[in-house]
Amino acid sequence: MWVLRSDAITVWNNKDVQKRLSWYRAVMKNLKPAKFLIAKSIPAQVGVKDLENMKEEELWRLHEKLSLEFRRIHESVKTGKAGETTPTEVSFLDVKIMLSERLVEHCEFCERRCRVNRRRGELGFCRVGYVSRVSTWFHHFGEEGPLIGEGGSGTIFFAGCNFGPCVYCQNWDISSDPGNGGEVNPRTLALISRRLSAENAANINYVGGDPTPNLHTILSSLKHLDVNIPQLWNSNMYCSTEAMRLLAEVIDIWLPDFKYGSDDCARRLSKVEKYFEVVARNHRIAYENGDMIIRHLVLPNHLECCTKPVLKWISENTPNVLVNIMGQYHPDYLVARNPGAYPDIARRPSAREMQEAYDYARRLNIVFEPVS
Ligand code: SF4
Repeated sequence: MWVLRSDAITVWNNKDVQKRLSWYRAVMKNLKPAKFLIAKSIPAQVGVKDLENMKEEELWRLHEKLSLEFRRIHESVKTGKAGETTPTEVSFLDVKIMLSERLVEHCEFCERRCRVNRRRGELGFCRVGYVSRVSTWFHHFGEEGPLIGEGGSGTIFFAGCNFGPCVYCQNWDISSDPGNGGEVNPRTLALISRRLSAENAANINYVGGDPTPNLHTILSSLKHLDVNIPQLWNSNMYCSTEAMRLLAEVIDIWLPDFKYGSDDCARRLSKVEKYFEVVARNHRIAYENGDMIIRHLVLPNHLECCTKPVLKWISENTPNVLVNIMGQYHPDYLVARNPGAYPDIARRPSAREMQEAYDYARRLNIVFEPVS
């Protein structure tokens, strides 16, 4: 039975889906406020000018304090003791926005830590400028069942990526070209989200390329967004710890990729260092801060080095997530252009490899797709 790929209504008959995505579902059904609305209702207890004058360390200290307050209120909301949220003039969200605006001046949104001042026009590895660009946005009906609702997943594709991009990227036209699409500022991004919500999208799904280089624009857009809709982070999860701290109290559901069990594979195929350490750390943070569906794309000939170590890590560290074990890999982008350079991944995964991945996940008691 393919649970995550079943339709948007019957998917919720599954008890594991209900239990593991309970917060997300409550927000989607408008029974609970999205986390960004809670963050907007917590007073920063300082004025705008004070925020502007604060040093970055002081802002982080204030963030830490307000994060504790957020957790207290979020717990009350979850258990039904509180529900209404009223935006306050200068809020916890403003502190997050201010921190993201400081971080982009020595960009450390991801673990590449390029430390370039993107506000002044400097470009780091991803070549994404200070002004974000959206390649396209639409109601996506091809995502996992719990994410599509009645109106699809409100998916916003940002141009550019902080990975290589991956040599087999299936969105390479977007990820390899940070100049793709049109410019968006926080207000126009909020207008896109509002429109998707008005057209019955189940969530706002930030993806790309990767959304990480656009963290400042995304956080600022939430200041202008006043509709209750779950926020979904659809990412390679190579964010810095600082980015994860800023996201922790605004993301309702995480849709991370966990691609590689080996740093050598990550380096060769996606041009990243310390992959496993960084991505595992961020999965742990996400797990503590919201619901999750982890995606693992099975690469041919990478069962032992990647699929099995990733599934084992998930079973030991994030046992209450849903996992989408994906078999749709096909050679694309650089692999399709020059298959001889990547002989290990120059074909689709075989039925035997997919079955081996499913059998292994089943032995680890992972709730995965397909569920037997
Ligand atoms: S988002 Fe990452 S890759 Fe891009 S400039 Fe910032 S630190 Fe560098």
